[in-house]
Amino acid sequence: MSKKEYENLKKKLAFSPQNAWKGLGPRVVDKFTSGYMDFISKGKTERTLVEETVRLLEREGYVPIEKSNLKGEVKAYKVYRSKAIAIYRIPKKLEKGFNIIASHIDSPRIDLKPRPVYEDTGIALAKTHYYGGIKKYQWFNIPLAMVGIVIKESGEAVKINIGNDPKDPIFVISDLLPHLENNPDKKFKDINGEMLNLILGSKPITFEEIDSSIKLNILKILNEKYGIVEEDLTSAELELVPALEPREMGFDRSMIAAYGQDDRICAYASLKAILDAKTISRPTAVIFFDKEEIGSDGSTGAKNQFWIPPIKKILSVRKQDMDLFLEDMLSSTAVLSSDVSAAVNPTFKEVHEINNAALLGHGIVVTKYTGVHGKAGANDADAEFVGKIRKLFNDNKVAWQPGELGKVDAGGGGTISKYFAEHGMHVIDTGPALVGMHSPYEIASKADLYHSYLAYKAFIEKFEL
Ligand code: MN
Ligand code: MN
Repeated sequence: MSKKEYENLKKKLAFSPQNAWKGLGPRVVDKFTSGYMDFISKGKTERTLVEETVRLLEREGYVPIEKSNLKGEVKAYKVYRSKAIAIYRIPKKLEKGFNIIASHIDSPRIDLKPRPVYEDTGIALAKTHYYGGIKKYQWFNIPLAMVGIVIKESGEAVKINIGNDPKDPIFVISDLLPHLENNPDKKFKDINGEMLNLILGSKPITFEEIDSSIKLNILKILNEKYGIVEEDLTSAELELVPALEPREMGFDRSMIAAYGQDDRICAYASLKAILDAKTISRPTAVIFFDKEEIGSDGSTGAKNQFWIPPIKKILSVRKQDMDLFLEDMLSSTAVLSSDVSAAVNPTFKEVHEINNAALLGHGIVVTKYTGVHGKAGANDADAEFVGKIRKLFNDNKVAWQPGELGKVDAGGGGTISKYFAEHGMHVIDTGPALVGMHSPYEIASKADLYHSYLAYKAFIEKFEL
């Protein structure tokens, strides 16, 4: 055979994922990206992201499911305790299993403790307890915003969102200066969680000799600005998130740097997919869960399948045999558990096995299994289901790549896929890969974002089990 013939044979037999930019119009991608950057800028916490999602849904005519006519075609959403949301597109006849795209909208961050405020050596600070898997040093010396909610004893909810507007003050957790790092006491080198103390202020309320007058000044400001007292902070969810806006990145502007892309990049791609889908091949739901980063426990996490009761309601309104139908329907439901994967960072590529690692800019990652120590805790999707998803992506010109999370035994992780699998649903993990996942400024490829959208749209419009 000639060299040319061998090359043709290689093309026919061998597989290697292609660069996702091939065939993409930059203008389309940039338009999509700017909508995404706006979305994650407004939604830096699960609560604010749910609010922004509702705004976009209502603009497109979606209504709360409580207000929807459940007998006809349903285009509706269900907000669950302000921190999770399910979006439904259900035809008049409910006969088949669903196509579901599920992601999570909580991201690693720093939370305030219930009794946070204290004063020490001329500075007022707040004690914190971090949320999710963070490298603690990354959260020192960066501008932080405080976003969340305080419930007063009266039950009134007070929203706080300070630090994101350029006119707002920001907050900082400060590190030890390098000059004094060589202290023989080793504790100064090992960062621990109790060192993540947030600086709140430094001005006394009076120059009279009174105790904790800097702290008292902070309490006074909180009272004037928000009408709250110190005890109200015990019934609050106040989250510290980077006061950094999403930015285009690189000379070629091919990337996005932003906080919270794990996993709001999948949330946005799937939201746009359900809004833009011209038709649906089966009943469809797009779901955003909270609490994934701490194990999906808690009522707003994926272990509580809050999205099922509204479907039961629809079945009962339509007088269908509920138990049997729900059982059949769940076991014939197809789920894309949509979460980000780890893209190879060239500086640390040793942690990956390159043939099975996701590369930035090479399309949506199809992750058959996650887990640790021999796939423990993994969903490990059936080959039959992987085959159908692969064909769907190929038929619809979606750039995709297989991937796993790091070398065997190098670490690992989990996703929400197993909480669907335990109901008998067909589930696989898919999503773009990030560089610097869980850092305050994660990096994504615009092309991967766009192909994730194309993948989810094809799944909603065309997938049949
Ligand atoms: Mn994730
Ligand atoms: Mn994560």
